[in-house]
Amino acid sequence: MLQTVSAMFKKVMVKLTILNSTVLLLVFIIYSTVIYTYINQKLFDTIDSSMIQAITDFSGYNTQGFPYRQFQNQNGKMKLPHPEDEHRKPPPLVDLRILVVAEDVDGRILLPQPNEKIDIEDVAMLLENTVNDIPQSKTINEHDYRMLSISYAVDSYPMVRVGKEKMIAVKKISAITVVDPEVSMLKRLVVIIMFGTVIGFFVIIGVAYYLARRALVPIKASWDKQQQFVTDASHELRTPIAVIKLNTELLLHNPDHTIEEESIRIAGILKESTRMGKLVATLLTLARADSNQIEMEFHTVLLPELISDIIQRFEPIAEMKEIGIEIKLDPHMEVIGDKERLHQLLVILLDNAVKYTPQGGLITVTGYSKNGFAQLFIKDTGIGISTEELPFVFERFYRGDKARSRDDGGSGLGLAIAKWIVEKHGGKIRVESIKGEGAQFQLQLPLEKKI
Ligand code: ADP
Repeated sequence: MLQTVSAMFKKVMVKLTILNSTVLLLVFIIYSTVIYTYINQKLFDTIDSSMIQAITDFSGYNTQGFPYRQFQNQNGKMKLPHPEDEHRKPPPLVDLRILVVAEDVDGRILLPQPNEKIDIEDVAMLLENTVNDIPQSKTINEHDYRMLSISYAVDSYPMVRVGKEKMIAVKKISAITVVDPEVSMLKRLVVIIMFGTVIGFFVIIGVAYYLARRALVPIKASWDKQQQFVTDASHELRTPIAVIKLNTELLLHNPDHTIEEESIRIAGILKESTRMGKLVATLLTLARADSNQIEMEFHTVLLPELISDIIQRFEPIAEMKEIGIEIKLDPHMEVIGDKERLHQLLVILLDNAVKYTPQGGLITVTGYSKNGFAQLFIKDTGIGISTEELPFVFERFYRGDKARSRDDGGSGLGLAIAKWIVEKHGGKIRVESIKGEGAQFQLQLPLEKKI
């Protein structure tokens, strides 16, 4: 069983790790892709807008190498657009990276002067098959280029000055730039991302494994607790079942005996079955409490009245054990709570006080309102609880003196239920004790009206 449970947890952990790593890896890949796309776009956007600028400014600035003028209107009056007019940064005086070429109406390419180094064939090759108005990239002879061609309508052909005097109408202006640095930077970025993905993959698996482990810790703890609960419950039920079985077998050995003759055995069966019934009811309460199936009915409860009622029930047994009960209660303490459950809570605490207080002892119940809470103290002068045991008394199935408390009908579930009831009411329960001198349980329950 243990083997299968740990195998199950291992399997869940592997699944969780895979799931976590997939999610983390996906996030990483999406993030890297977004970064790559953004940088890629930004880089080429900058280049493209420089090319548009260069083409637009083609008409506005007379660069040394490429003398030209563009007529803006039809009446032959020359107008140079001013950069400020268009709310944009003026172009650089010389942009050496961008080559602006024009194509005249006969399809001849015009290059800036001087252009000895530029081969017209190469320019033609670059401009081949370019789609107008859309920036494009091309790789030729291991170099990357970006170009943009803008074609003009017949009635608005820009005029370009060639040489000193000659004006030529052009139908298309193109900008060409080498984008080797940008492309190599992007390639490097891809390498970095790939490298990061590989390293990230292992880091992510490590992180995912760690997260899966952490996520499973509380689940494992609660699983172990449940297992412990089932084991303890079965253990508790085994004893009464064994006693009932044994007594019944003994009864069957003597079928001719009268009920009177076997009354001890029958009483034993009755006692154990009552005990078992109680235990099963308590277990059911705890199981339903765990799965939040128990609905509480909250009403106004006058605590002193409830406490007096319960103490009346305990008086005969206290008298029998010669235990005194003293009550000092503020008569107006009203809390909002489930009367049945509060009754159960007080019975558990008073029952313990009577159970663990020897003859001649004293039980004191004190209560007052303070800071919006009903403060209740149930104090006895009984056997007390040792400092080592104090942290465990509210745990399920915890019994101080195992043999003695079982004889008293205790199963170690009382205080666990008491704690659950108090917490369900938004209160707190505490215990103070000195071994041999007695114990004091302190309850804090929220008052109906804050005082
Ligand atoms: P049980 O059914 O054994 O009384 P509880 O959960 O009510 O179970 O209490 C758990 C343990 O706490 C007891 O076994 C006992 O050792 C200790 N205990 C509880 N109340 C008192 C008390 N008033 N005085 C001394 N010990 C107490």
